Amino acid sequence: MKTKNCPICGAGKLKKKVETESFEYKGQTKVIPNYITYACSECGEAIVDSTTLKESGKMLEDFKLKMEVAFDDEIFR
Ligand SMILES: [Zn+2]
Repeated sequence: MKTKNCPICGAGKLKKKVETESFEYKGQTKVIPNYITYACSECGEAIVDSTTLKESGKMLEDFKLKMEVAFDDEIFR
């Protein structure tokens, strides 16, 4: 596997990390598994994998949409 250089500082090497990330929205938590980030060994910058960013973005949009609908319907009381 080839290592990429950090786009922020250009000096560090990016190290792949797979985590479980959780986001909070209106008091509810959405957990996103296999959240891939690349952490720089030099500047400590963490870059989110582009596929992860796209997929988590979609999941969060869905999640927010569901929350809006839920609140509109007053399911959560
Ligand atoms: Zn860096």
